[in-house]
Amino acid sequence: MLQRHGGSPRPLLWGMLLAAFLATPLAAQQTPPVLDVDRVLPGIVEIRHTLHANPELSNREEETAALVARHLRSLGLEVEQGVAKTGVVGILRGGRDGPVVAVRADMDALPVTERTDLPFRSTKRTTYLGQEVGVAHACGHDVHTAVALGVASVLAPMRDSLPGTVKFLFQPAEEGPPPGEAGGASLMIEEGALEAPRPDAIFALHSFPDLPVGKVGWISGPTYASSDHFIATIRGRQSHGAYPHLSVDPVVTAAQAILALQTIRSRNLDPTEPGVVSIGIVRGGERMNIIPESIRLEGTIRTYDDSVRTSIKRRIDEILAGVTTAAGADYELEYHPYAPPTTNDPELSSFARDVLEGALGSDAVVEVEPVMGAEDFAWFAREVPGFYFRLGVVAPGTTSGALHTPDFRADDAAIGVGIRAMSSLVIETLRRGGAFAGDGGGAVRP
Ligand SMILES: [Zn+2]
Ligand SMILES: [Zn+2]
Repeated sequence: MLQRHGGSPRPLLWGMLLAAFLATPLAAQQTPPVLDVDRVLPGIVEIRHTLHANPELSNREEETAALVARHLRSLGLEVEQGVAKTGVVGILRGGRDGPVVAVRADMDALPVTERTDLPFRSTKRTTYLGQEVGVAHACGHDVHTAVALGVASVLAPMRDSLPGTVKFLFQPAEEGPPPGEAGGASLMIEEGALEAPRPDAIFALHSFPDLPVGKVGWISGPTYASSDHFIATIRGRQSHGAYPHLSVDPVVTAAQAILALQTIRSRNLDPTEPGVVSIGIVRGGERMNIIPESIRLEGTIRTYDDSVRTSIKRRIDEILAGVTTAAGADYELEYHPYAPPTTNDPELSSFARDVLEGALGSDAVVEVEPVMGAEDFAWFAREVPGFYFRLGVVAPGTTSGALHTPDFRADDAAIGVGIRAMSSLVIETLRRGGAFAGDGGGAVRP
């Protein structure tokens, strides 16, 4: 361009302007509104401390939900409580027409006894599956809830200028409802959380102890695996341990089944295809010299692909049938699906990367790898184009244990980063208008 205009003084000016324009991140080119994160931060950090010190297990998030609803009402949002038991839906209607953008935050804690030295650490105890246990936000959902409340606090005073609607979904039971109960994202959807109005895009984040505060982890396409829980009961015939010929030994049969189930990963799946079959519980027997009547196996199945998921389930059944028939034993198989794979919509993801780089700086956005963990945000991302990113939570000079451990700790400083990141995603998606193509979670790899 400079060359085309020859030697007049104006091209130099235009060239400088162009260079400045190109150096400016996409999201900043259209002078985005100023986000007043610093104003809301002290109050939101205080809320985070309250949530952290008062964790509640899945489907028991009563006080958490009450606090969330109170905060949203104080900002003037439309609030519905009791969605999927303790879920809260808040709607912020902008002053101008435009798309609907949803932010999802999970609220539940885990049966873990916290071991951090945080001044607001949890000392709570509760009952879980008949046992007294410690309860803690060992998965950082207190941070996620606080961030979403912070986003509402930032956006509510801007409502007149917002081109569209923001829907906040505060979800119970992300870790899975207690046995025998329904709950989580799928129940929220069943109860209409994605209707009236239906979002055009949905965002969520997760605390990530492998990233420092200030960084966010970006990924497009498959990001978390599907997760299914299976319980296999192998039944034989009980006998004295000294007279095994009188038994049908479920211990030996279970041992064979455990090894045979590992051939699903090694011999049935394409080696390039992600997939895991892990058994975490082997339970049975009362005394060393009694061959018991039955053995119970429980495990988890992880994949990125619906057809692989179906074929693993089928192979488990076939293998149990074969092994138990050979032994003269019997089996029962229970199968509890938890979540499909979580897939970030490719078009929304690349848009989100530009927005995050504009909001936090390009150095702050790092590409991360998919993992075999699971996340029930998958249900939402199946319904509408979704983007799920990871929030760095480890402050300089500190360390954190892994998620779900007593030593997991998320630094308060991550909250401001999360609010800025999430508010920017919401505002820029509203300003962009128009829906994303949304090839949906399951459709990416048919
Ligand atoms: Zn978790
Ligand atoms: Zn979690």
